[in-house]
Amino acid sequence: MADEQHGGSCLCGAVRFRTNGKLREVVACHCSQCRKQTGLYYAATNVSVDQIEIEGEDHITWYRASSFARRGFCNVCGSALFWVADGADEISIMAGLFDEPSDLKLAYHIYCADKGDFYEISDGLPQYRQGRPGLLTAGPSD
Ligand SMILES: [Zn+2]
Ligand SMILES: [Zn+2]
Repeated sequence: MADEQHGGSCLCGAVRFRTNGKLREVVACHCSQCRKQTGLYYAATNVSVDQIEIEGEDHITWYRASSFARRGFCNVCGSALFWVADGADEISIMAGLFDEPSDLKLAYHIYCADKGDFYEISDGLPQYRQGRPGLLTAGPSD
């Protein structure tokens, strides 16, 4: 039985990846760290680290935005790529990086209390003021 596979890349293609297995539903994080990094919000799926193969790892710069997690971005084109909590065996991957059709679906919004003041969230999906219980996230952004 062939495993589900998905490919993706940053804007310039210096970083490419391939995932094996089912991808988690997409979560949109509106915390201020995600807002600053992306200019809007961070929409990401997530796999365990043994489900992803990354090419061009030397083009990834890891920025430690908090005391317990780091954010990877392409050091050629600046695309936001990954979010990883220290010691976690999972990696969050920006949903917009995937080749289409991605088969991804946005499921809900977190850290809505910190969202930018220039837009509304009006897609009818669940909104959490902060994190969602059981979901590993950046935590309160202040
Ligand atoms: Zn790039
Ligand atoms: Zn966030």
